[in-house]
Amino acid sequence: MEDCLFCKISAGEMDTDFVYQDDQVVVFEDINPQAPVHLLIVPKKHIADLNNLQPADNELIGHIYQVAKKMAAEYDIAESGYRLVSNCGDDGCQSVYHIHFHLLGGRKLQWPPG
Ligand code: AMP
Ligand code: ZN
Repeated sequence: MEDCLFCKISAGEMDTDFVYQDDQVVVFEDINPQAPVHLLIVPKKHIADLNNLQPADNELIGHIYQVAKKMAAEYDIAESGYRLVSNCGDDGCQSVYHIHFHLLGGRKLQWPPG
């Protein structure tokens, strides 16, 4: 996708430091962290948002959860707890329309979210 920030980042075109990558996803630190640990897990495949998810993406989404679990262990928040969240649309405060998952932890998170 032309002009998609996360397509460019995941293709390695933005000099972003990846803390993890494989054939399906890249993981990097959020530029505006909301918690001591704030990683973005981004599929290399362009999917605009949750509304555009297809059944064929089920394996990818499962993989993303496995990567989240692995990153939580690596960042030492597996036991203290964390949140994996994907914002969708205007009310969900999505700002980048390439699906991604925020992994947040390292402090007590509030619930319900604001
Ligand atoms: P969302 O608002 O849920 O769509 O999440 C997009 C996230 O991408 C925000 O938390 C931004 O801080 C983050 N972000 C935007 N540009 C960059 C970038 N160049 N590198 C890292 N994170 C970014
Ligand atoms: Zn994209």
